[in-house]
Amino acid sequence: PASDVRAAQRTCSPLLRLLGYVGPHRNYAALTVCFGVLGFALSFVYPWIIGSAVDVIVAPPDPGFPLAARVAALLRLTELAALTAVGHALVVYGRGHFNTCLGYGIVADIRRELFDHLQKLSLLFFTRERTGAILARVVHDVHEAASLIYMGLIVAALDAVQLVIAVALLLSISWKLTLACLVLFPFYGLVFAVMNPRVQRASERMHGQLTRISGNLVEQLSGQALVKTYTAEQREAERFAEEVARHHGFVVAQSHEGHLVASFGEVLVHIGTTLVVGYGGWLALHGEMTAGTLTRFLGYLLIMFGPVRRFAELNIVHQTSISAIRRVFRVLEIQPSVVEPARPHAVAPRRGHVRFEAVSFRYSQDSDETRVRLDDDREAGTASAADDAPCVLDRVTLEACPGELIAVVGPSGAGKTTLLSLLPRLYDVTSGRLLIDGIDVRDYSLTALRAAIGIVQQESFIFTGTVRENIAYGRPGATDEEVEAAARAAHAHEFITGFSDGYDTRLGERGVNLSGGQRQRLSIARAILKDPRILILDEATSSLDAESEAIVQRALEVLMRSRTCFVIAHRLSTIRKADRIFVLDAGRVVESGSHHELLARNGAYTRLVRHQADVE
Ligand code: ADP
Ligand code: MG
Repeated sequence: PASDVRAAQRTCSPLLRLLGYVGPHRNYAALTVCFGVLGFALSFVYPWIIGSAVDVIVAPPDPGFPLAARVAALLRLTELAALTAVGHALVVYGRGHFNTCLGYGIVADIRRELFDHLQKLSLLFFTRERTGAILARVVHDVHEAASLIYMGLIVAALDAVQLVIAVALLLSISWKLTLACLVLFPFYGLVFAVMNPRVQRASERMHGQLTRISGNLVEQLSGQALVKTYTAEQREAERFAEEVARHHGFVVAQSHEGHLVASFGEVLVHIGTTLVVGYGGWLALHGEMTAGTLTRFLGYLLIMFGPVRRFAELNIVHQTSISAIRRVFRVLEIQPSVVEPARPHAVAPRRGHVRFEAVSFRYSQDSDETRVRLDDDREAGTASAADDAPCVLDRVTLEACPGELIAVVGPSGAGKTTLLSLLPRLYDVTSGRLLIDGIDVRDYSLTALRAAIGIVQQESFIFTGTVRENIAYGRPGATDEEVEAAARAAHAHEFITGFSDGYDTRLGERGVNLSGGQRQRLSIARAILKDPRILILDEATSSLDAESEAIVQRALEVLMRSRTCFVIAHRLSTIRKADRIFVLDAGRVVESGSHHELLARNGAYTRLVRHQADVE
């Protein structure tokens, strides 16, 4: 049923789907429509006023209609014109303002929904997609929605009505003249039918290219140190210029096609007007209509041409927005692979007993998250690739009793980080089971599960904000004393108090004003403050110098007491104290046991240890 809903959503026009977002903003929508209709009604008044004025002025001398009466009539018409001026002023404000409120209200809602949805996706999605590509969807593509409701629906509907009314009025004045003006219209339809698919394609390419630019940009900016040290500025500049030029090309193409249609419309408008002046003048000369009627006809004709002229311009906006919105909806449709269980287990993991049962894992599994490519409109068909993709983890079985210290060792790329990412469900197992306290991790609520697990990752991440905010990330309500205690335990207090602002020091974007070791100690403090049942240390001390490592190691030992711990480590000093050691190689557990048992086996572990001893 879920896939049926998705299929239905996909076929449903983005415009109709967008309409679903109007609900909470219906007041603004109603106001926009009201002012739109008012402006529309007012536009019919002017031609009538001018036509009537002409008739009053050019009417033959008539004792029944003396000069004084004519002046009075003109005065009334002038008053009416002044009144419509006030009306127009209101319309310009109301229509513009309320439409913006409506459009950007919807934009804000979609952005929120998009962000909420992105946060539901597993890491599978984020390791495949470039940050900049995601950024382009949330910031740029959504923005295009703002104009769509108004331009695509309200203006288009009013234009259609305006066209019909104007044609009816024209026909009522002179059917001959009207038909003469309309005779060229089928050609316009033909030109449009031929050109529009091209406008559409160009719009899609335009957005795709913008996503790529955004993706490259974020990458190049975050890799500036690399770019500079390899003096790749010139190359990067050329690459960027190339991408920008391609985008420019698509915009030019879209504009070319779109404005060709517009210019054809304009030609029609002028031919029509000329016809009315010539043929209409002839009719007036032959007494078939008054000069005033002809003037009124011209006025209504111009009203009818308004939608005709706008049509092509609207179409460009419409196609641009539609293709952007379609892309946004495509992201909203991605099914997360790690989902909250339908009926989560009532209790949270408490004891910290962990069991991996024949766990296998592949990164290239066939999931909706891996099928979509944001900077490439083709859907990657990973279904067949998934079958022969290598297993990063191959039937791993291991167990940790509550309070135990488990070490996972093995060469780089063996799958250690991947293995422990499965515990907080950053990914889900491809096959096998992962149990905490005898219950499958997929049966706990995500919040309860993740609250019970602390990770100090290989790459410590620091948010822009103060030192205090960064440490208290897992417990925003923590008191200053608690934050300080955690920092002391992680041996971070010393360097923090060395900053001029202490705990209120603002850390730069991605923690650039901290050294690797300082970053690592902050993330250890963060984990200490969270006080989880199960702790994962992924080479947590790898970027510390020997002296700080010894200090932090002692802090970690305090932290590791009374909870289940998994340590991924290279240093023998850490591994030796473990209750059990698992040696991982190419995704398989090749050996397990205590330090002494493993040494006695004289196998893979012994080789690792010997190598480590050489290094130290
Ligand atoms: P370790 O932590 O033992 O060094 P990892 O668990 O990081 O190893 O990686 C194990 C294997 O999985 C490696 O071969 C690596 O290339 C692959 N891998 C890691 N992360 C990803 C990812 N996001 N997408 C695809 N493959 C990955
Ligand atoms: Mg790793």
